[in-house]
Amino acid sequence: MHISKFEAAGRAGWASEGACKDVDPESLFVAGAAQHRAKLICAGCVVRIECLADALDNRIEFGVWGGMTERERRALLRRRPEVRSWWAFLGSRKNSDEYARPPRPYARRSRPVSSAVGE
Ligand code: SF4
Repeated sequence: MHISKFEAAGRAGWASEGACKDVDPESLFVAGAAQHRAKLICAGCVVRIECLADALDNRIEFGVWGGMTERERRALLRRRPEVRSWWAFLGSRKNSDEYARPPRPYARRSRPVSSAVGE
């Protein structure tokens, strides 16, 4: 979990560590299938949880942040209305483990392992 690492530097400290820092910012503000490609940028980002927490706490409406599209973030906010601070919520190991899995941009295309190996 990375939030505690950045607490001392303040909440904005994570931004310069993002995997997207050298990509065209517009590539994260796309629609439709392009959002799935954008999520791949976030998949290996070392500050994905911080980014997600910030986007959720600030109710950022557009773009892929923290590996989630705006639609996914809205759904998460609806599912967890009791969370007042996503920074604090995701800062705990227990909660961050649940959300620390890399985004699955093609989840609907996943196949059983047996078919993936040609059995
Ligand atoms: S999670 Fe994605 S949008 Fe956020 S800093 Fe990392 S690469 Fe950029």
